[in-house]
Amino acid sequence: MTPGAARAAVFLDRDGCLNEDWLNPATGAWESPLSPGDLILRPGVVDGLLRLQGAGLPLVLVSNQPSFAKGKCSLADLAAVHARLLALLGPEGVRFLECCYCHHHPDAVMPGYGGACPCRKPAPGFLLRSAERYALALAGSWMIGDRDTDIACGKRAGTRTIQIANPRAGHQAGQATPDHRAPDFAAAVAIICGGV
Ligand SMILES: [Mg+2]
Ligand SMILES: [Zn+2]
Repeated sequence: MTPGAARAAVFLDRDGCLNEDWLNPATGAWESPLSPGDLILRPGVVDGLLRLQGAGLPLVLVSNQPSFAKGKCSLADLAAVHARLLALLGPEGVRFLECCYCHHHPDAVMPGYGGACPCRKPAPGFLLRSAERYALALAGSWMIGDRDTDIACGKRAGTRTIQIANPRAGHQAGQATPDHRAPDFAAAVAIICGGV
């Protein structure tokens, strides 16, 4: 890389990628955790994130979190879950260049949070904004996620894509054509960083 050239980054989905989905007892469905205590990291995530960092790749979190828009929780709940993520990862040495949350939903019940937005995956808005803001080279970057919408988002932004297996993703996975598939986070990181 020449001095001043744009650098590659790794864009990361959150739920089902960095942390486990949460079983909502009210719906019986796997959803985003809405309480800090329900956020549990998936195996290998801390070591994997540190390895990516060690390879000089900035980390950008890109997550759809529409539960407030749907009337299922407060914005404070969403902030508390995010704080829990940072509390688990920060002391380990993980630093995000940026954490991007879309709080919109097309069928929102909360005024001001509905309709189409440029930031809800599969829309690539956050990736494009981060690339502009931090001089990131999207073509050399990666998007890692568990759902087909994560892969579509990465493709629209022009990144390479890795889909992580998540049995709880259900019908939200299986139709995409990622550049790579990985059984877990460590395997995804190995694809990016190479070898053992
Ligand atoms: Mg996900
Ligand atoms: Zn949005």
